[in-house]
Amino acid sequence: MAFTEITGFTEVAAGVFVLRYPVLDCNVTLVSGEGGALVVDTLSTAAQAAFLLGEIRKITPDPLTVVNTHHHFDHCFGNAAFTGSEIWAHEANAARVQVKPEIRIREVYEEFGALDGMTGLDEVTIVPPTRTVRSAEVLDVGGRLVTLRYLGRGHTDNDLVVTVDGAVLTGDLIEEGAAPSFGDSYPLEWAETVAAVLELCGDGPVVPGHGAVVDKAFVAAQHADLAAVDWAIRDGHADDSPQEAVAARLVKQWALLSPEQATLAVKRGYAELSGRA
Ligand SMILES: [Zn+2]
Repeated sequence: MAFTEITGFTEVAAGVFVLRYPVLDCNVTLVSGEGGALVVDTLSTAAQAAFLLGEIRKITPDPLTVVNTHHHFDHCFGNAAFTGSEIWAHEANAARVQVKPEIRIREVYEEFGALDGMTGLDEVTIVPPTRTVRSAEVLDVGGRLVTLRYLGRGHTDNDLVVTVDGAVLTGDLIEEGAAPSFGDSYPLEWAETVAAVLELCGDGPVVPGHGAVVDKAFVAAQHADLAAVDWAIRDGHADDSPQEAVAARLVKQWALLSPEQATLAVKRGYAELSGRA
């Protein structure tokens, strides 16, 4: 998806809108109730978040509550645009974002600052969550009940899954168009966590952290891919296979998985199995 293809929110279920932002193909979801609305994830920079807020205000003038699905910059560095709103996240997210924010901004800038649309990434003000979830919370958003759940470690140690009226918002536990990112992942637990996500899915839309809106069948397929990663790592470790060999096998099995991500997955899995994680 090119940066020039930027569009506003699309309604994917009654009062549930998704904005697919072209930089990193990142999704933001808006749940609109009567007198209140919920924004799930806030993009990467002040300019991106200002654009987002403008699009939100085309749909609702109501007070906003914010959820960050996890601590990665492309889901929470826009928080400063929502000052005054409650910002919900998992408690491990809250702990992470307050550790050396200036170092984190520099690292993220070095990796992503050159991308189109990332101007100002080095000048972000990190705003931590104001409310935290341990296992589950139900929010009343303008009369709509929205549930935030922590289902276990996976893409990170703080992925929240949001459900409202049959729609399931997975954050980066599920990604469309690219394989999920393994840099901060728990590859030996991720599949199990996604199995729990699958139980929440019915006929409604599933909004992944990145890419097109998908459905339960897509989640089932990604569960199978993640389970294959899990088992390949366990088998490789049990057989003393070199990490590179396991990573190469994974890339062959899962077409979307890049060699870099496969290498990260195996490295993190082996470290855990060797008691070094
Ligand atoms: Zn992420």
